[in-house]
Amino acid sequence: MKITKRTGAAVIAAALAGLAGAAAAQVAADAKRPPIPASRLGQVTPGKENTPNGGRPEIHDIAEMRQVGGYKSPGGVAYSDLAAEAGGKLWPVTLYYRCKNTPGGTSIPAKPPQPIEVFDGVYSIGTDANNIWAIKTSDGVILIDALTTEADAKEFIVGGLAKFGLSPKDIKLALITHAHGDHTGGVPYLRSLNPDMKVGMGELDWHALPKGPNDVTLTDGQKITLGDFTITTIVTTGHTAGTVSFVFPVKDKGVPHMASLYGGQGSPSDVPSLLNFRQSLNHFADFTDLVQADVVLSNHTVGDDGLTRVAQLATRKPGQPNPYVVGREGVIRYDAEWRACLSADIAERVSEGATYDPLKVGIPITAPPRRQAP
Ligand SMILES: [Zn+2]
Repeated sequence: MKITKRTGAAVIAAALAGLAGAAAAQVAADAKRPPIPASRLGQVTPGKENTPNGGRPEIHDIAEMRQVGGYKSPGGVAYSDLAAEAGGKLWPVTLYYRCKNTPGGTSIPAKPPQPIEVFDGVYSIGTDANNIWAIKTSDGVILIDALTTEADAKEFIVGGLAKFGLSPKDIKLALITHAHGDHTGGVPYLRSLNPDMKVGMGELDWHALPKGPNDVTLTDGQKITLGDFTITTIVTTGHTAGTVSFVFPVKDKGVPHMASLYGGQGSPSDVPSLLNFRQSLNHFADFTDLVQADVVLSNHTVGDDGLTRVAQLATRKPGQPNPYVVGREGVIRYDAEWRACLSADIAERVSEGATYDPLKVGIPITAPPRRQAP
């Protein structure tokens, strides 16, 4: 065997070219795959229309996963079984949404959740699909994501902040998890209300928004402090190339906890992107383990069973637990569920003939194919 020396840049360029080729081939293969079965189309579960999550389908256990998951390969079945065992009890909507052997199984519209204070000074003010988090610090508000349009930013972000005595002028920093329209679309409107608002986003996603002189490129392991509050950003390529995730401290009626929020939800469909995503979960776990995270938050309601949890929180009685506090075991189960779902999808694709080079995993793909929102 001949080993040739190449510069790092050349290696990466060659790897990117290889991955782009592999991704293109996978997209072509996806186009030939059979249509999405009715069981994965995300219909409202009959009789459950008025439940907190609007009747979104759920998977609670291995039996239900085998019924609707649609995995056929031995690896796909084994991994999706593990996912169901790990997370079905705590995140049944998320599990249905995440283990998507058939791309296209997606969330369905539901009634918007009420704006609510989830932790001390941490507010959930999103839509039925997108959780928006507003964190009140001693020196203003940090917003996580910005919804899709001026109209929904006005109704949900501005309206939601007002419910807690806050205004768009209080937003010092809007952290954008990734450059998809349902997270960036409200930025121009919020900027028009507050020209001093800074926007932070991962380097490889900045192509999607005009970058202002005071805006921030979020880097891996960066600590951002506003007043008495510090949030850590983690680069987690996979959903988009520049996706960023967060860990930050919260308090539940004075009791400290550590929150984790992964910045991209929908799984890609091609194997190289799935592999990148899985590796990024590992990187994220390096941080959640370090800070001993015991809270799972998401930027989508299908990422943390958010509609159900907001409804539970709204009727929480004194002394009852906060439904977002899942403990160390919960954070570990969440990671295991997600990892196993990605692994199930990888196993399924490979069993269908997809292939990949294990030596080239982990290099950001500049434009991962996007099959569906979010
Ligand atoms: Zn997205």
